[in-house]
Amino acid sequence: MKTDFVIDDHHLQQLVTYYGSYREENDDPRILYTFKSDDFRVTVYQTKKVLFQGVKAYEEYLKWAKLLGKEVVEPMVTQSYDNDYVKERIIGSDEVGTGDFFGPIVVCAAYVRPSDISMLNDLDVRDSKTMTDEAIIRLGEQLIEAIPYHVLVLSPEKYNQLTGEGYNMNKIKAYLHDHAIKKMVEKHSDVQRVIVDQFTTPESYFRYLSDIQPFRKITFHTKAESIHRSVACASIIARYKFLLEMEKLSKEIDIHLPKGSGAPVDAIAKVILLKHGAHVFKNIAKINFKNMERINP
Ligand code: MN
Repeated sequence: MKTDFVIDDHHLQQLVTYYGSYREENDDPRILYTFKSDDFRVTVYQTKKVLFQGVKAYEEYLKWAKLLGKEVVEPMVTQSYDNDYVKERIIGSDEVGTGDFFGPIVVCAAYVRPSDISMLNDLDVRDSKTMTDEAIIRLGEQLIEAIPYHVLVLSPEKYNQLTGEGYNMNKIKAYLHDHAIKKMVEKHSDVQRVIVDQFTTPESYFRYLSDIQPFRKITFHTKAESIHRSVACASIIARYKFLLEMEKLSKEIDIHLPKGSGAPVDAIAKVILLKHGAHVFKNIAKINFKNMERINP
């Protein structure tokens, strides 16, 4: 996927201002600027080429590419789901919210059988990363009626409590996946395979769970959303629940809470800090994120 373009001086100034708080020193003579956050890195070369990298690379790239009137290359639809898994009854598990300063972490395990495939095709189930929030809500509402699933919402409050006790993000994810999977396997004993969208090595996954009896028969895949529709469905339902939770929190605090962990998030967080004080963040945000240090050093 293409995530670079050449920028003019005017827009370069805008970009430098926008990412200012993420600026990192560099001594590579070919590079004008580097900006780095937890989930993206932006490199501006002497040639005025701007390169976006990291998990949020494409989102950041799209923002600027559209603003600059560049021809936007939409993500290639490579997920034909054309593999042998379509013949199996599969529980897929995925999580969201782990890169978002505001809001909970949501994990969902969803069950998809071969008989569901044509219905899911008709609904146009695909990688949720290529879908707008509106599409997620529309499809999420349909999926929760259409297939079996189990969803877990870890509130910011609970997340902060766990990280305070020494849990890291991956351990929290592993626990949530394991719990959701067990709930589904209990109810659907005819399942043939469990796929987890891989976020750490299988060894580490089971090491995080070494003090309990985890469900072990797992197939790990990176980019699993495009490998089997069960993971795509899990991801869509998880994002749907996440959006509902964000709406709820936004209403409670009377400010629209943005997703992600970038500059717009810091801007809103500063407003909240002034209006409500630092103590509210434990109920709405993941306070061990760097955002917290940046806004309240
Ligand atoms: Mn995932």
